[in-house]
Amino acid sequence: MKKQLCSTRGSYIDADFWTAVRNGVADDGGLIIPADWENRQIDVETLPLGYPDIAQAVLACFADDLDAPTLKALIHQAYDGRFDAEDVVRLSPLGSDFLLELYHGPTAAFKDIALSLLPLFLGEASRRQKQPKKTLILTATSGDTGKAALEGFKNRPDCELLVFYPDHLVSEIQQRQMVSSEGRNVGVCAIRGNFDDAQSAVKRCFADPQLRAALNACQLELSSANSINIGRLVPQIVYYFWAYRQLRQRGVLTAGQTLDFSVPTGNFGDILAGYYAKQMGLPVGKLIVASNANNVLTEFFTTGRYNRRRPFMKTTSPSMDILISSNLERLLAHETGLDGQQVAAYMDQLQKQGEYQIDSALLHRLQKQFACGDCTDEQAAETIRQVYAESCRVLDPHTAVGVHVLRQLRSEGFEKNPCVVLATASCYKFSKDVYEALFGPADMDEWMAMEQLNQRTGIPIPAPLQGLRDKPVRHTDQIEKDAILDYVRQKAQVMNHD
Ligand SMILES: *Cc1c(COP(=O)(O)O)cnc(C)c1O
Repeated sequence: MKKQLCSTRGSYIDADFWTAVRNGVADDGGLIIPADWENRQIDVETLPLGYPDIAQAVLACFADDLDAPTLKALIHQAYDGRFDAEDVVRLSPLGSDFLLELYHGPTAAFKDIALSLLPLFLGEASRRQKQPKKTLILTATSGDTGKAALEGFKNRPDCELLVFYPDHLVSEIQQRQMVSSEGRNVGVCAIRGNFDDAQSAVKRCFADPQLRAALNACQLELSSANSINIGRLVPQIVYYFWAYRQLRQRGVLTAGQTLDFSVPTGNFGDILAGYYAKQMGLPVGKLIVASNANNVLTEFFTTGRYNRRRPFMKTTSPSMDILISSNLERLLAHETGLDGQQVAAYMDQLQKQGEYQIDSALLHRLQKQFACGDCTDEQAAETIRQVYAESCRVLDPHTAVGVHVLRQLRSEGFEKNPCVVLATASCYKFSKDVYEALFGPADMDEWMAMEQLNQRTGIPIPAPLQGLRDKPVRHTDQIEKDAILDYVRQKAQVMNHD
C-alpha cells in the first residue's frame, strides 16, 4: 500500500517514496513529509537488537512496495564493512547519561549513516522509472554532508554530484577531505559566502525552470543530498530506535519508560528524525535542541520568534553555523496539523522580512516536546576538558555543545530521565580546536594537532583521516554565490559529453 506523502505547504503528493527521493523537494516549494503516522508504527519492545534489523523495520515504514529481501540487501550494502563499530553505531556511558557515537563511518561524521543509504535509494528510484535519467545531485554543505555525499555517490553509474561549501568556513580537515575526493562523477566547488548562502543558492537552482529545462536537455534530473531530501531523514530515525532498544536490553530503561535525547543542531535534520521516531511510537521524552552561538533556534523555542537577521558567527562547531534551519519547516507543518497555508505564510515572512512569530498555542505545544539551550565556544572547550578529566573521552566541539546544553539544563532542574547525547563527529575532524581545548594554545597546524592529540590521548585516529594530509588536491573551483546557476549549467554540459 502506498504511504501518503504531502508537502509542508499543503498539497498532497501523488507520488511514492521513491519519486519523493528523486525529486528532493515538492513542486510548490515546500518540503516533502509523511502525511500520516498510523501506517508507520513500530513497537520497540518487539524489535530485534541488531542495527540492520532495526533499519529494516524503520525503512519498511517508508519504502513503499519494496520486498523485504531487496530492502535487506540495500541495508547490508550500505553498512557492511564500511563502519568501524560492531553494530554501525555505538552507545557508551557518559556519567549516568549516554553518548550515541554516530561517527564510525567512512568520513568520521554522522552524515555517513544517511548518505550510505541515499545513493542506493536513488538507484532503486531510477530503476523504477520507465526511461531512467541520470540524476544530478546538488549539495550545499556546512562541512560534513559534502564529504559523506562524495563518498556515498562516488562512481555510481546513475548519478553526478556537485558539492558547494562555504570558503574558509569549514575546518581545514573537512576541506581537505572534500577537495581530495576521487571519483569520476563528482565535483567540489567553494562558494564565497556562508552556508546559508550556499544552501539558498542550491535552492535557487531547484526553483529555476530554465536551469531545469537545460538539464533536461542533457538528460539530467536534479536532486538533493541535503536533509531537505526525505531520503536523508529516514535512515536517521533508525539510531533513535536502536539506542532505546540497547538501553532496554541493558536494563537501563523499563518498558515504556521515556528517554530524552540531546542533539547538536544546525539544519534541524538530525533532531527532526528523533521527532519522527516519537511519532512512530518510540517513548521519547524531551528532545533537546542544542545550538552553538548561532542560537536562532534557542530564541525560537523560547519565544516563538524566528529571526535570522543577526550576525553570522564563525564557531568551533562549523557544521552548525546555520541561521536558516530548513527542517524546522517540517516540524511546523506537523505541529500545525498540516496547515500548509500557515506554513507557507511563515516561510514567506522569513524570506521577505527575515523573521516570523508563531502563536502562543503552537509555541506551547513545541515546548512540551522540545527543550533548548545554546553554548559558546568557550563553554564547548570547557566541556571537552571536563569530560576528558572525568572519563578520558574526547568530544568533538559539536558533541560538546550537546553535552553542555544537557548539563546546563540539568543544573536548572531539568527532568531526571536518562538522556542520550548524539555524538556527531570524530574529535579528529576538528583537531586543533580540540587539542587547544584540552592542552591550551598551541602553535601548530591541524595536521600536527591531529598527531599530537593522538599521542597525548592515545585515542586512535580514524582510518579515513590517516594520510589525508598527503592526499593531492583535485578540486580547486571557487565561485561567487550568484554564479552557481551558470556553474551548474556549464558542468551539466560537460557531463553530457561523457
Ligand atoms: C550536520 C552536523 C550537525 C547538525 O545536524 P543537523 O541535521 O544539520 O541539525 C551536528 N554536528 C555535526 C558534526 C554535523 O556534521
